[in-house]
Amino acid sequence: MQDLTLYSGDPLTPGVGAVPGAKRLALKDAKTLLKIPVLPISYADAEPLLAALGGRVAPAAWRGGLPLTYHIGPGPAQVHMKVLSDWNQKPIYDVVAKIKGSDEPDRWIVRGNHHDGWVFGAMDPLAGQVALMAEAKSIGKLLKEGWRPRRTLVYSSWDGEEPGLLGSTEWAEQHAAELKVKAVMYVNSDTNGRGFLQAEGSHALQHFVSEVARDVKDPETGASVLTRALAHRRVSAYDSAGFGDSAARAGANGDLVLGALGSGSDYTPFLQHLGINSVNLGFEGESQYGVYHSAYDSFDHYRRFVDPTFEYGVALAKVAGRIMLRASQAQLIPVHESDFAASIAGYDEELHKLADGMRGKTRELAKLQDDESYKLTTNPDYPRSPPPRVADVPYLNFAELDNAVAKLEQSAKAFDQEYARLDAAGDTAGSTERERVNSSLTILEQNLTDSQGLPGREWYQHMIYAPGLHTGYGVKTLPGIREAIEERRWDEANQYIGVVSRALNNYSARMDRAIAAP
Ligand SMILES: [Zn+2]
Repeated sequence: MQDLTLYSGDPLTPGVGAVPGAKRLALKDAKTLLKIPVLPISYADAEPLLAALGGRVAPAAWRGGLPLTYHIGPGPAQVHMKVLSDWNQKPIYDVVAKIKGSDEPDRWIVRGNHHDGWVFGAMDPLAGQVALMAEAKSIGKLLKEGWRPRRTLVYSSWDGEEPGLLGSTEWAEQHAAELKVKAVMYVNSDTNGRGFLQAEGSHALQHFVSEVARDVKDPETGASVLTRALAHRRVSAYDSAGFGDSAARAGANGDLVLGALGSGSDYTPFLQHLGINSVNLGFEGESQYGVYHSAYDSFDHYRRFVDPTFEYGVALAKVAGRIMLRASQAQLIPVHESDFAASIAGYDEELHKLADGMRGKTRELAKLQDDESYKLTTNPDYPRSPPPRVADVPYLNFAELDNAVAKLEQSAKAFDQEYARLDAAGDTAGSTERERVNSSLTILEQNLTDSQGLPGREWYQHMIYAPGLHTGYGVKTLPGIREAIEERRWDEANQYIGVVSRALNNYSARMDRAIAAP
């Protein structure tokens, strides 16, 4: 069991490529290797262990579905465990293919999908891998006919994703310096099946991804995959509890809102360690996912239940392939910065609400403790002590963040206007101006990173997106501030308001410089 929320990749080589001769930590110093042995087991093996536990009856939320009364221990039975671990080093194999760009060879559009699976891995990862291979074959054919991309295309097939994003992380760490100069975008896929287009990533890419999705037909309905994905989100929003405008929750300006990236696939080292604009793509939603990571994720199962005609593999190749080709061919690197600014403004608002909500709740709790409400409502059958007393929630230094967001919105608007002007002018516009915009866009996302990283996990350097420290793959946006508030570390919250504000101000200043009159 590895704690990926501290850093991904080889536990012994955080921050550097695990190549021969690399400096390696001692096993005992690897923070991502947890000290308690963990092994998933079947219910048949778990049943005698659970049945042997005494002590209090487990609270309702802790009980499982086995035909026994769940107790929480300790004892009385004792279990002797013999733990055998294989700590040997093993080689893993990434396959990386490059097609050099004709005009801008030092700008790379990077595509990746892992090729290792827990067992057969038909859906995870081979359904995505097959789409990636289909793109590479088609692009290879174009190349043979004399075509060349304007910017360099890099197609990568990663090894060792399942045991810890090993292949992608070690490659990204080994080539970090070069990637930070050259990588414009990273396009990831992984599992794939029948259903609706799912896309998450840097918010500046949402208009670009939506334009591509508009041009690809959904195999089952004949509608565009964009139309179908938006309809699916509207229906799900309506079906879920609560009121609100389901159209607004599904998309903005007819575009598919890109969810923020947490972790769980190979984009993590590119986006969250190096600060490279990333997007993750795949179709899902129409077949059950119960075979995930098991011996039942087989070709036979895939062909019978997941995507019998393989048409959604073709659809994924069409979406990801178009993203690769357009990102490499477009005169201007495709982005829409106002979408990024609007998303950040939304996150800022969430943080205000979070702090205000906690302040109100904390006061309410103090009142309940003072007027003895907990004592008066005690049920002797289920005795419960009141929640511990906590200090009042102070007012945080949000002005700095609010100002940075306001500046970001202004800069993004001006940038998008100039971008649209250059885009419409096409070849007649000055190539110097275009070059200035493209060279800024290549490294723009890196302004959102900070070399000190997040609290206690310096490897995670992106200040906008990270997997939550306690949420597994689940994302936390503006994580340095959000997690500090959630855990009532107010000094740290104020500190990271400063760090995030500086990152946003650098981002705005970089956009301003890209369009400033010479
Ligand atoms: Zn996978």
